[in-house]
Amino acid sequence: MNFSLVEKNRAWKQFYRDVREGLGHAYIFFSEDKEMLDATLHFATLACFCPDVCCECATCQSVAEGSHPDVMRATGDGMKVKDDLEPLLEQVEMKPVRATRKVVIIEDADKMNVVCQNKLLKTFEEPPEYMTMILGASSESGLLPTIRSRGKKIYLENVGSEDIIEELTEDGTDRETAAVAAAYSMGNLHKARQFAEGGDYREQYEQVFIMLMEMKKSSQIAQYALKENFSKERIALTLDFMDVILSDAMKLLLETDAQRFTVGRERELTQVAAGFTPQGIAMALEEINKAREQLKFNVNVANVACGVLFGILEARYKWRKK
Ligand SMILES: [Zn+2]
Repeated sequence: MNFSLVEKNRAWKQFYRDVREGLGHAYIFFSEDKEMLDATLHFATLACFCPDVCCECATCQSVAEGSHPDVMRATGDGMKVKDDLEPLLEQVEMKPVRATRKVVIIEDADKMNVVCQNKLLKTFEEPPEYMTMILGASSESGLLPTIRSRGKKIYLENVGSEDIIEELTEDGTDRETAAVAAAYSMGNLHKARQFAEGGDYREQYEQVFIMLMEMKKSSQIAQYALKENFSKERIALTLDFMDVILSDAMKLLLETDAQRFTVGRERELTQVAAGFTPQGIAMALEEINKAREQLKFNVNVANVACGVLFGILEARYKWRKK
């Protein structure tokens, strides 16, 4: 990934302020987007040694190649105290050899077991003067409160849909597929990429849009519920698409500048939103979540489909515009 996408993120600006004004000892970057998180950790490491993040000098290159002696990398996933963490902490105690600082990166820090986290805590709290530790985590819940409270917490923003489309098309995905993937992923580049590689869902996305634009009467429900989009294999994705579209329709109704995930669908969104008030959409979104819950319990898919479509129509009419 090129640096520009990372550089745009508010999280990067927050970290980079410290690069300029004085690096701290302990940082925790949070994101559910594995690709963005990995890239951010990578460029953050570069910035610790080359504040211009030029990516070209000998320092940047040796960090990127993994041969810089003052950079240590580890992963929390499957980390063992004796085999992995103790040798790492021993190295931390040794002064840097090439630069004036040492950097430790721990990816998937929230997957570290409790024993490792407790063992790490002392160093994380009071590292040697020359030390900067950077943890990457997908969520806060996997980290001990003691670890969480000792590091400077930085949260990555979602990636804009246009940026996701650009990233995916650069790698050869067609624009239409990239737009569906961007909508589905709701700002998560890693998820969008996996989705785009996983199959062709353009038709399903179109059909969900059409359904939400056209469905106005309960007599139409059976006809939609019996379609392939509500089959056992497809229903979960149909619900995800409905969620994204209705959420964007809500943003349109409320005229907020909150990030939208569908791209180039102003006309369709306006048509979807036309039948709803914001309260109605909120209730429809609850119906979608209810349907997701029901699907976990091996219930009849056709019943779930009818239920959610009825629920959405009801939401539409219960809160209709007066
Ligand atoms: Zn450089």
